[in-house]
Amino acid sequence: MSLSVVIVGSGPSGFYAADSILKKAKDARIDIIDRLPTPYGLVRAGVAPDHQGTKKILRVFERTALKPNVRFLGNVCVGKDISVEELKERYDAVILAYGAARDRHLGVPGEDLGNVFGSWDFVGWYNGHPDYQDLNPNLAVSSVVVVGNGNVAIDVARVIAKTNRELAETDVSDVALRAKDQSGVTDVHMVGRRGPVEGAFTHAELAELGRMEECVVLADGRQLPDEVGDVDDKVRKVKETNLATLHEYAKNTAADKPVRLHLHFYASPVELSGNGSVEKVTFERNTVEDGRCVGTGETFELDAGLVVTCIGYRSEQLEGTPFDERRGVVVNEDGFVEPGLYVVGWAKRGPSGTIATNRPDSVGVAEKLITDHGEGTGRPGPDGLDSLLAQRGVRVVSIEDWKTIDEAEVSAASETDAPRRKLTSVSEMLALLD
Ligand code: NAP
Repeated sequence: MSLSVVIVGSGPSGFYAADSILKKAKDARIDIIDRLPTPYGLVRAGVAPDHQGTKKILRVFERTALKPNVRFLGNVCVGKDISVEELKERYDAVILAYGAARDRHLGVPGEDLGNVFGSWDFVGWYNGHPDYQDLNPNLAVSSVVVVGNGNVAIDVARVIAKTNRELAETDVSDVALRAKDQSGVTDVHMVGRRGPVEGAFTHAELAELGRMEECVVLADGRQLPDEVGDVDDKVRKVKETNLATLHEYAKNTAADKPVRLHLHFYASPVELSGNGSVEKVTFERNTVEDGRCVGTGETFELDAGLVVTCIGYRSEQLEGTPFDERRGVVVNEDGFVEPGLYVVGWAKRGPSGTIATNRPDSVGVAEKLITDHGEGTGRPGPDGLDSLLAQRGVRVVSIEDWKTIDEAEVSAASETDAPRRKLTSVSEMLALLD
């Protein structure tokens, strides 16, 4: 009898969980399910296309996926093709690792105007995620507002501001390149509700903005303090380096390059307005008191033909699992949900941290799972799943099938500098396989 585990979601947190289970229980049988035919979650569809170095972590996950007692089952949607309850009946343990795939909303008037997008959808669009290829954002506008001061806001601002020539060595989607060909963008405004010291971005990402070919980064020196002030020692270094870089940006001038990225602080959007499609955003100026932003009542406007909100994500509830609506995560205690059910990654703790943050998080949950379930309880595991999915006519995509898709994508880019040209529709992928 060996432990059988099914993991719902094939992103970093799911793969780290699989890997750490196998380190402790070498003969465990592990199935990793994903609703897309492609594995690796946010590494494929979230990490920016011009961060190919970050994507190299795939090689580590692939080693796990190719182990004899691990299976990847792509194109299987939990909640539609099979329920969590049915998985629980068949495996000793179920791990939810399905991330946080919904945008948080600003909750201000005008958010539903045309050409306003959340970063989940927008990033999915430029990263070739099949669900977002018809998003159709119009980049033939002069001014763009990006709301948020995290690394996603930086990714989005950078991908919009870079030239297509700078994106030639990336796997950005064809639809995004075509839209960028029509781009009339001269000004990108990235707006944080708190100050430069409170910015959630990390230094490598902030500094990278300064290396764009045709876009100059501008900051208003009057918004930049001389010192970071009273901050936790753990983050002091990064805050000081960020502030020094922002002071450098404040020395730039608008005329330096044809496109400008303006970094604004202390402002919250209070209304988006326009005739059908967004035309401007009204902001209220804030002060920061005890780390919280407080509105001053003073407002200002920015022109915006396109708005992307990058203000964080939430998970969705899977039927039969307890869910915290307010936080947008699965209810859990250190990853334990209920007997036989665990959660890791963003579905567990919310959308925070880098890919590597998921490792210790998943290791801890895997250790708990092994303590709870040891050698297994004799449930059928993988053997119990296949017949059910076959009965339901689900075309399961195996890891070998994924390798076929992978090779097709890489060879489609062979005449170019790009690492791959992504297949961006599920039917296209399945047609290739069958
Ligand atoms: P994040 O780091 O949490 O940043 C969210 C930003 O949205 C913050 O500036 C937040 O401001 C702001 N915000 C939230 N609600 C708002 C509202 N109602 N109005 C205005 N602003 C609002 O989240 P993220 O950028 O989505 O990134 C998610 C995680 O992925 C992060 O841990 C990030 O570091 C990671 N990531 C890493 C990389 C990389 O390493 N290159 C790239 C992308 C993402 P407050 O701070 O005031 O709440």
